[in-house]
Amino acid sequence: MHRQHFNANRVQVSTLLSIKTGACPEDCKYCPQSGHYNTGLDKEKLMEVQKVLDEAKRAKEIGSTRFCMGAAWKHPSAKDLPYVLEMVKGVKAMGMETCMTLGKLDEAQTKALADAGLDYYNHNLDTSPEFYGNIITTRTYAERLQTLSYVRDAGMKICSGGILGMGESIADRAGLLIQLANLPEHPESVPINMLVKVEGTPLENAEDVDPFDFIRMLAVARIMMPKSHVRLSAGREQMNEQMQSLAFLAGANSIFYGEKLLTTANPQADKDMQLFARLGIKPEAREEYADEVHQAAIEHAIIEQRDASLFYDAATH
Ligand code: SF4
Repeated sequence: MHRQHFNANRVQVSTLLSIKTGACPEDCKYCPQSGHYNTGLDKEKLMEVQKVLDEAKRAKEIGSTRFCMGAAWKHPSAKDLPYVLEMVKGVKAMGMETCMTLGKLDEAQTKALADAGLDYYNHNLDTSPEFYGNIITTRTYAERLQTLSYVRDAGMKICSGGILGMGESIADRAGLLIQLANLPEHPESVPINMLVKVEGTPLENAEDVDPFDFIRMLAVARIMMPKSHVRLSAGREQMNEQMQSLAFLAGANSIFYGEKLLTTANPQADKDMQLFARLGIKPEAREEYADEVHQAAIEHAIIEQRDASLFYDAATH
């Protein structure tokens, strides 16, 4: 199934930047950014447009082909929207694909984002409609579907998926996939997240998901939405290499690099690239040379780390 629609040895790589962090009025029980829980997270205002563009430039330099910007909002305000539109236009002008996640949208906002050149909108359904109320009470499933419908009607691509490990049943996981696969068109991107249990959130002590159940979820998503990129998303850092390999075999073909890659040599990127190399996987290229650029940048980062360890001076420690 996977091989009918994709090159089995390619994985799409996106970079994610939080453009506004924390103090979100929504009460998603899994989320450290919710203002309802005390997780010790530093709250930040909307980033300045130029700073976002600087980060996008760096993401491009290390080969990311899509730049995702996320804001912890219930919905964008009239005051903030113009800045957000500038960000979209600026990132787009660099030749990257743009993706945003800003919460609920109305029709006019959706159109404005599409006109600015936004390619993807991320809006997760999280879980089944039946289980949704156990996790979020400040918005409804119907509102989520409405925003997705505005996004599609405005001609943008959809990124929508969910989270495992919130206490949902297998039927709820199936229910989520049924919802996604029965949207008028399948989302182009389906992130499947493993709950990252954050202290201070109501789900900090949630039960672990059986790793094989997680893999099964990816496989079923691949079968139900054969042309979608199935993204191995949050929680990946907690998975060992064997589990990640199984995930790619089961049909996952997209990953995120977080912000860390933008700021420092990122051990996660090093590990990712080493695992990719061992599995014979390459980053999916959007532009002709993107994967080579990416590869070169990551190799450079790895070499820098190697140099750092070469120059480690045992005498001073
Ligand atoms: S809407 Fe997004 S940022 Fe806000 S609490 Fe929910 S998951 Fe977190």
